[in-house]
Amino acid sequence: MASQLIREWSGIQQFPAATQAKLLELLGKLKQENVSTLTILVMGKGGVGKSSTVNSITGERAVAVSAFQSEGPRPVMVSRSRAGFTLNVIDTPGLVEGGYVNDQALDMIKRFLLNKTIDVLLYVDRLDAYRVDNLDRQVIKAITDSFGKEIWSRALVVLTHAQLSPPDGLQYDDFFSRRSEALLKVIRLGARIRKQDFQGTAIPVVLVENSGRCTKNESDEKIIPNGIAWIPNLVETITHVVSNGSKAILVDKKLIEGPNPDARGKILIPFILAFQYFFVIKQIQRAIKDDIASESKPSWELRDMGSASRKF
Ligand code: GDP
Ligand code: MG
Repeated sequence: MASQLIREWSGIQQFPAATQAKLLELLGKLKQENVSTLTILVMGKGGVGKSSTVNSITGERAVAVSAFQSEGPRPVMVSRSRAGFTLNVIDTPGLVEGGYVNDQALDMIKRFLLNKTIDVLLYVDRLDAYRVDNLDRQVIKAITDSFGKEIWSRALVVLTHAQLSPPDGLQYDDFFSRRSEALLKVIRLGARIRKQDFQGTAIPVVLVENSGRCTKNESDEKIIPNGIAWIPNLVETITHVVSNGSKAILVDKKLIEGPNPDARGKILIPFILAFQYFFVIKQIQRAIKDDIASESKPSWELRDMGSASRKF
């Protein structure tokens, strides 16, 4: 793989002063926790705004954005450094092709990530989509099968197109929470995370508006309809996920070539069956045999056996 060029993060200067100050403060906090590199993996279906979000976070036109064309087939890592801190953002091709999960794209993403450590997964979808379906669940399952369930404790759901007027007279916050709940439910199902475990994990959902027409506050920061300056909010939520006590995901050869990490336990199934056969079933069979042998036969049974043998 070609060595990655790490450029100075000049894009940060494109942000308004208030955003820059908050971002530098957040990066400073991470450095205090001995985190000097942050690798963010961006995944989701095609056309949901993954590449636009990468550009928004870096403050640069680092990757191509397209409304109609299908995306580039390969993942791209944008690496930027600033005051001893390195930010890597990995943009990936959409995970759906022709109505199915694109396994080829997923394989390419896995190979691209070899020997990299994923600090955070941004699972991107649109706020202005009203339904979740089986395909969403399949996408989540494919991510889980590739990187293990643990990836979800390092994940954030990012909802783009956040500047909208909700349909059916719903309040913005109601619409947001309904859309979030529907998506989180599909994530829980696709990743086969039990409800009680999921509550502990609590994947944050963050709103994003990549459009140039995004409303701004008096400090010139882009805000979403609930008034929150979304770029510092997104980066802050990312730093919370990094510090939530879970482990980053190291993509090693074993993860890529080995059995699907989410099914590793299944290797034990033959051993468990063998154990059950020898130590449980055999013991029960022996106990039954012993029981039969030691049982004194009732007189009628002895009589019947006698009459049976007389026939021959
Ligand atoms: P990707 O396929 O997931 O990488 O999606 P892109 O970033 O290429 O975006 C697809 C289209 O949606 C482009 O025309 C973007 O300009 C547009 N887009 C992306 N994010 C937003 C957003 O938050 N708001 C609006 N209005 N348009 C967006
Ligand atoms: Mg893209």
